[in-house]
Amino acid sequence: MKDFDVHVLGAGIVGRSLALALARAGLSVALQPDPARAATEDVRAYALNAASVELLRGLKVWDALPAGSATAVLDMHVQGDAHASAIDFSAWQQRVGALAWITDAAVLERELASAVRFAPHITVVDAGTPVRAALTALCEGKASASRAARGVVFERHDYGHQAIAARLTSSRGHQGVARQWFRAPDVLALLPFDTPQPEHSYALVWSLPNERAQALLALGAAEFEQSLMEATRFEAGELRLVSERAAWPLMQATASAWCGPGWVLLGDAAHVVHPLAGQGLNLGLADVAALVGVITRREPWRALGDDKLLRRYARERVAPTWAMGQVTDGLLNLFSHEAPALRELRNRGLSLVNRLPPLKRWLTTRALDS
Ligand SMILES: Cc1cc2nc3c(=O)[nH]c(=O)nc-3n(C[C@H](O)[C@H](O)[C@H](O)COP(=O)(O)OP(=O)(O)OC[C@H]3O[C@@H](n4cnc5c(N)ncnc54)[C@H](O)[C@@H]3O)c2cc1C
Repeated sequence: MKDFDVHVLGAGIVGRSLALALARAGLSVALQPDPARAATEDVRAYALNAASVELLRGLKVWDALPAGSATAVLDMHVQGDAHASAIDFSAWQQRVGALAWITDAAVLERELASAVRFAPHITVVDAGTPVRAALTALCEGKASASRAARGVVFERHDYGHQAIAARLTSSRGHQGVARQWFRAPDVLALLPFDTPQPEHSYALVWSLPNERAQALLALGAAEFEQSLMEATRFEAGELRLVSERAAWPLMQATASAWCGPGWVLLGDAAHVVHPLAGQGLNLGLADVAALVGVITRREPWRALGDDKLLRRYARERVAPTWAMGQVTDGLLNLFSHEAPALRELRNRGLSLVNRLPPLKRWLTTRALDS
């Protein structure tokens, strides 16, 4: 039996970030990856907010990312389902350097894995290794088996939608603009990216009802590109696929308990939100920052697995996570109805918010800090 301060289950972005942050705080960590994880390359690119970038920078991971694997979003253009209804956010108006950074998921995972390899206090263990630790952190993602084994209920609402992700190039330069179309019932986002073609690449996230998503996945590349250009009204130029397409089923979920004596949940193991606001991983990384903060500020006599200590973490994280879930779910519901009166109302609402800079500033601040 080996002794550690913390046993981290799950080596996704949240699990690895947690292991690195705890090791930097001087704790010994056993990190246990998933033996069953398929070695497929993730085609997604994540929109990371300022707080997430700050955390990754502190872990010496952000500045080590290779050139072209993170692109700053300078403006965001969100289009309603009537032509004239839109809302624009600009980094310049919000007085920030960028609204978000679009980051290659696979590259970020690789960089974290390499940082873990060189971290002196982290031991990567396999499922068969007997481990004794004061605290077990469950970072196993939405299907966490260890969460279920602790009797925690994962209260989930399945949207019946899937998100298709892929990489694209475009004939028109992106100019750092993230574009999103609410198309009742689907939501389509093109996130500016600089690989493979600097200034002319995008990461696609297109969420649609299951059958429609499956039908689009079954199309050949040229037909898919044509559907995509029609859906974006050719506003982003001529789009070409440069990767495989992959799809994820979408849900909103939250765990009935976030911690108990000696264990705690982080990331998608604790909560899942719809990706339309690009906030799931940002919430998970905010969990990491909160837990490490609570641990490093604890009273010297308090054990790492102390129930009261872990409840401080849960109290800090439950409210902002719940609020983000409400916002994404509310937006999705608002734009999923096709009744003409509702359509008119929501499109007027978008245009109205667009003319209210203080409200836009408030919305942006929430998204930047999650
Ligand atoms: C299409 C799409 C686009 C998205 N875009 C964004 C975005 O732009 N911005 C954003 O912030 N978020 C985004 N998200 C959300 C983001 O993907 C997730 O919130 C994030 O990946 C969660 O990370 P995690 O480490 O908690 O979980 P996961 O990434 O699921 O990692 C969990 C890890 O634990 C492992 N594991 C599972 N079971 C075990 C076990 N028993 N033992 C050991 N290991 C185990 C798994 O194999 C995996 O490696 C998006 C999601 C989707 C679907």
